[in-house]
Amino acid sequence: MDHTDSVSLEPESAEPELAEPYLREVLGTAGLAVEYVRAENNTLFRLGEDGAEIPVVDYAGGYGSVLLGHNHPAIIGRATELLAAGTPVHAQFSRHPYANRLAAELNRIIHRELRTDEAYFAIFANTGAEAVEAAVKHAELDRVMRLAALREELATRLERAREAVADGTAVVAAGAYTRLGITSGGGFDPLAAELTRRNTEQLSRPPLFLSLEGGFHGKLAASVQLTHNEAYRAPFKSLAAQARFVPRERPEALKEIYAEERRVVWDVSVSDGRVEVAEREFPAFCAFLVEPIQGEGGIHVLSAEFAAEIQRFCETIDCPLVIDEIQSGMGRTGTLLASSRLGLRGDYYTLAKTLGGGIAKTSVMLVRRARYRKEFEIVHSSTFAKDSFSCHIALKVLELLEADGGAAYRRAVERGEALRAALTSVREDFPEVVKEIRGKGLMLGMEFHDQSGSSSPILRDAAGGGLFGYVLAGHLLRRHNIRTFPTASALNTLRFEPSLQVSDAQIAQLVDGLRDICGILRDHAGERLTGAPVR
Ligand code: PMP
Repeated sequence: MDHTDSVSLEPESAEPELAEPYLREVLGTAGLAVEYVRAENNTLFRLGEDGAEIPVVDYAGGYGSVLLGHNHPAIIGRATELLAAGTPVHAQFSRHPYANRLAAELNRIIHRELRTDEAYFAIFANTGAEAVEAAVKHAELDRVMRLAALREELATRLERAREAVADGTAVVAAGAYTRLGITSGGGFDPLAAELTRRNTEQLSRPPLFLSLEGGFHGKLAASVQLTHNEAYRAPFKSLAAQARFVPRERPEALKEIYAEERRVVWDVSVSDGRVEVAEREFPAFCAFLVEPIQGEGGIHVLSAEFAAEIQRFCETIDCPLVIDEIQSGMGRTGTLLASSRLGLRGDYYTLAKTLGGGIAKTSVMLVRRARYRKEFEIVHSSTFAKDSFSCHIALKVLELLEADGGAAYRRAVERGEALRAALTSVREDFPEVVKEIRGKGLMLGMEFHDQSGSSSPILRDAAGGGLFGYVLAGHLLRRHNIRTFPTASALNTLRFEPSLQVSDAQIAQLVDGLRDICGILRDHAGERLTGAPVR
């Protein structure tokens, strides 16, 4: 069957559209299929019909990867230098002092922010989802190794009990049979068999992950199962281990899920000449993944209280905490780790996006020394990870963030406040249209009220068809030369993640565009949103 039936392979150019043609068509519907030909600072350029460049103010910010701005001169300078010097980019299985320097610099900053001196070991990767997968795999390796140690301990204890019964120094307590649901008598063997059967069954169950409702951790096979959005996740359920999704800001749900999902093995003990059996908990929860500020879920900042509950919960049940800073990190909210301000301390961190300075594709998974398993370095690898180009660029990114006593972090806070004040002024004038402004630093969102009851059929259809935010984004682009998008899993929320260079004039341009949109929504004048898509 041809699944491309509905897709036109003959767009405006003579070339057939073969690179994700359906997506191209959807973007075209919303007027978003624009080609950008140049980029600098917080601006992208497209060509007008006369061939002249039209500047577009970028609030999508490469989905969070260009906090330093497009083509930052110091980053481009470093890249040019590296290429001109003939730096070996791919020299796998050799010494990588630059990767080590990068890991050390990340540690130095993280130690300052977390007020700790415990080392975090670095495993490099290429994309955000890949860093998450590395964390997931490491956590599972650690769990499997802990289970192996537990299995061995249980076997030793069972053997000891068997010997005690055999040499007559102990007898099986009658209650032991009852607890395992088998008939009493018959000696030690039936007890050992039932106990081993139950334990083998329990210990071979797949791991369970915890994640938050609204969470987004990537779209690869394992990470998409930790991403809450059902449309992304459901078709691939059988490919990887599953997560339980914890409702945001409902700490009591943690205890409920724990009570439902905790798993036990049966252990034996010998005391006072009696063999007893007892339940013993084992690590069934592989990891708890948390974004300090949910990005794709609609820009939701985790409260410090809920963060503290999650931290306590993970410590109590000894479940590793993976803090996904792929979108919120790298200085966007005024610190390298947004979670450090929430008082969170992760066993793992994932960083990506701006780590590559807007030109390299790189990411890193950091794991706390106390949890680290050196064996991971042998069983996990990637051809492109830890390449010299990405590491040198990432080092330059950190240098730029840290320069002048952290001026870039302060700038993120200052620009963030200016942008937030501007968005808030729009909300104050259109409370019937704008539901909420959320976020921190240069990671802000504007949620619109649901328009599925609008008297405008165009707005109703857009809201019902799942394209609402994209239609708004299309209008902002066409009429106001503003580039933004809805968040991936919350289409009523527009995202604003510009670079540090976003100017007052660009913020004013955004405000004009948003006021235009709000007026259209308030007046139920969907027809004013339509227009020929930009080509
Ligand atoms: N985690 C978070 C928090 C993200 O925001 C994203 C990307 N939006 C990812 C993981 C996945 O990153 P990538 O698209 O580079 O795989």
